[in-house]
Amino acid sequence: MRTLVIHNPRSGFGSDAVFQFERALMRGGDECVMRMLRDDFEAQHACEDADEFDVVVLSGGDGTISSLLYALRDRTVPVCVFPSGTANLLYANIGNALEPAALARACRIGKTADLDLGEISWEREDGTRATHGFALMSGTGFDAQIMQAALPNKPIMGQAAYFAAALANPRPTVSRFKISVDGTTYERDGIACLVANAAMIQGDIEIIPDCRMDDGLLDVIVVETSDTAQLLKPLAFGLLDHSGRSAGRPHIESFKGREILIESSVPVPLEVDGDVAPGLVSSYSARVLPKAARVIVDPMSPYGTADDGSSRFGSSDVIAYPD
Ligand SMILES: [Mg+2]
Repeated sequence: MRTLVIHNPRSGFGSDAVFQFERALMRGGDECVMRMLRDDFEAQHACEDADEFDVVVLSGGDGTISSLLYALRDRTVPVCVFPSGTANLLYANIGNALEPAALARACRIGKTADLDLGEISWEREDGTRATHGFALMSGTGFDAQIMQAALPNKPIMGQAAYFAAALANPRPTVSRFKISVDGTTYERDGIACLVANAAMIQGDIEIIPDCRMDDGLLDVIVVETSDTAQLLKPLAFGLLDHSGRSAGRPHIESFKGREILIESSVPVPLEVDGDVAPGLVSSYSARVLPKAARVIVDPMSPYGTADDGSSRFGSSDVIAYPD
């Protein structure tokens, strides 16, 4: 078994869990290439030899992993998403067991699911066009402002930095959003308009119900409130009802589609999977890339299948920890 681990050493708290993972993964005769990303890494370059491996492990925060998954789109090599970031929301949405040895086992068993990715595109302030892939959520408005405000505190506070930033920002900008979903247009006033491939956020809360990464559709999420205090309401509902199926989500409306165009009446900040883009934008488009990511899943994952005992690389039940 040949494994490529692409690790961002600057992600999250500098955890060394990926090295425990590597130790649990390796058997006699295996090879592992451990590639450390530089600060200015280029995703395409970092994974250009991916097809020479049996498994590619992406280890970092959500922004790093999304950019690498996008660079690997439509390749057939199985990809294991390893949580080394602050929030690890992609990992939470895939839903694999949370333990380096369990993830190593899933890599040896080699069960995969083909998951969708999203692609977002907007005009920069200098008139040039930017296009990025995303795996979770991207878009404009309040939550990009939160991400931006949280940045300085992330290394110390972790996930709490997002909540602190949200509470410190009581009057977000209200825009009129013109939302076109597969040719049908809606107009709504709100503080954020996002496109989501996956909708589970911090605390295992799904901000909208029934969002899946394998249905070939993106979900457009509009937050229709002008007040941070009101945002606490859907969050409180989220704590009582994680899936959103019984209590619903006050102030949040959503649409499903393949091709999306959003125009905002006021220029607003934009974020791609938690990374804030420079400048402000007045419009963006997004489309789904169906089944573009072949991801390792275990039986814990909602995208996994029951364990039938088969294993691609064998001896998966022997965990190689030293005595
Ligand atoms: Mg979907």
